[in-house]
Amino acid sequence: MGKILDYDEMNDILDSLDINVIKKEKPIGYTYFGYPIDHYVYGHGKYHVIITGGTHSAEVISNVFVIRFMERLSKKEVYIDEDLYTLHFIPIVNPEGTIIVTSAIRSLIPRDISLEEEQTYFLTYYRNSYIEGDYANKYGDRDYKLQQMMFRHATPLILDDKHKELKEYLIELFQKNDLPIGCMINWSSNGRGVDLNSNIESSSFIDRVSNGEEIYANLHLNNIRRDKLGPLGCPYFKKGELEKENESLLNFYNEIKNKYDYIGSFIYHSCGNIVYYLGGAKEKNPWVNLTKEDGDDNYKVAKAYADKAGYKLDGLEIYTTMDSKLKSLFPITLLVELGGVRATPLSQFMDLDLDGSFSSFKRVYSNIIEENTLAILNALPVMLDSYNKHAI
Ligand SMILES: [Zn+2]
Repeated sequence: MGKILDYDEMNDILDSLDINVIKKEKPIGYTYFGYPIDHYVYGHGKYHVIITGGTHSAEVISNVFVIRFMERLSKKEVYIDEDLYTLHFIPIVNPEGTIIVTSAIRSLIPRDISLEEEQTYFLTYYRNSYIEGDYANKYGDRDYKLQQMMFRHATPLILDDKHKELKEYLIELFQKNDLPIGCMINWSSNGRGVDLNSNIESSSFIDRVSNGEEIYANLHLNNIRRDKLGPLGCPYFKKGELEKENESLLNFYNEIKNKYDYIGSFIYHSCGNIVYYLGGAKEKNPWVNLTKEDGDDNYKVAKAYADKAGYKLDGLEIYTTMDSKLKSLFPITLLVELGGVRATPLSQFMDLDLDGSFSSFKRVYSNIIEENTLAILNALPVMLDSYNKHAI
């Protein structure tokens, strides 16, 4: 097995976990095309924590990190006190998007590849994306993209027939919205083509989209429009409608917070090597009035995480994403951007150790897995402390 995992491989690993350690619960909900959003639980302690990955499906490393972390817990290679904590895992928040992007990956990179050969694909993809980023800066062209051309045969037709309904919808969407060739490799949205993190009432894109503005993504993705249903950025299917994945997540967070002692959550994205927390508000937060003490607590937990991971810290001040809503309504929630290299879905799986290369380029994958595992272990007690301080 290579480092990258497709949707079925992810589920195979999840199904193989020791059920005495990590138990599968009923899904927190179902997507528009009927895929379960699966939920797993570790421990039976009083203090509840939520850990999610793959909101943006192109950020495959976030699914893989969460799944590998669960696997290490299951094999007892990592230990968290199961009498003190209950960890809730949603490793695949956006199953439709994960099916789309990992099907695109498998159209080029086979499962039974050697680790060395797999690395050459990651490196090529990384370099091609950077070339296109430079070209976008220098020439501003929205031409074919090298990294998408690697995956130009990944059209909706490659989806397995077991995904018939999703496949037929995508075939029509590609035609109707004239989506760029090879863009399935950049698929971050759900199956309907809505970006779950933008699908929120306060998204800055809603008015621009409904006014008919043409909005393009940046750099090597500057041929993708965010104002149309497609690979990334589009805030809604129908104006005002919340996608099922977001509705399920909000209900789930509410349920955990109302029923139990909820102490915090970790939301995984990539990339940037950054921990975003809810800091001092410069703008007015539409959901909460944050006190200085709340901000300090958020900071403390984020710092405990960032110190161990070696990541930068950033106190959030804009409230235009679904994750900012979760951070506001369900403190203490950290959003972690895994890895210091851009170009999802493949670059974060690079694991080279080339002499003379800059540090964020070295052992990208191994560092992500190792540093973030330690960071969770370091942040949990700090999360618990700040919860208990307020519970008294
Ligand atoms: Zn993201």
